[in-house]
Amino acid sequence: MGRVSAPADAIDTQMARRAIEAVNREVSLVRFLNDEGYPVQGPDQARSIKTHCPWGWTHPDGGMEKSFRVYGSNTGFCFGGCGFINPVIAAERLWEIPPQRAARELAARYHVSTGDLATAVAIMQRGLAVDRIELVDALRRWCDASFTEDERIDARRALARCASVVELIQDASDAARWWEMSQILIFKTASQSDNT
Ligand SMILES: [Zn+2]
Repeated sequence: MGRVSAPADAIDTQMARRAIEAVNREVSLVRFLNDEGYPVQGPDQARSIKTHCPWGWTHPDGGMEKSFRVYGSNTGFCFGGCGFINPVIAAERLWEIPPQRAARELAARYHVSTGDLATAVAIMQRGLAVDRIELVDALRRWCDASFTEDERIDARRALARCASVVELIQDASDAARWWEMSQILIFKTASQSDNT
């Protein structure tokens, strides 16, 4: 429809993409499948293993064959027809929800800091007390994961400014607001830095 993305939308999209990447990196595919009731064995160090596919019932053979290979890279591949699987794709299929929501739900369940505001709020709404040190740590982890070496100097400088006001946070809604403002500030500072 010829819609032009506003900068805020671009930041949202970029944050969502980074949240999906963080979840795919931090949440164990094997653990998730086990928690969902699929007794999938983990790969032995770097060696992949063959197991039954969680979606075996959709295969021509009804899932009789061990057609699902799980790799040490936290991914899987089903030769019975399901194809490539990572934690977010697995959750997306099992729960029949879009990838952004799947990433958010996984992050909340496994306490992964994705740098996504909705996830931070979801974690806090599950009864975790406001821990200011933990909040700053989570923001630091987000910084390190989200920016290149060049951007990180500026990101860290902005982070220090955000950390200096963390004592003002009293409750979950303060925390959510602080988290959102901090990320926008850091994101803008780091992505506007021109070190080339
Ligand atoms: Zn399959």
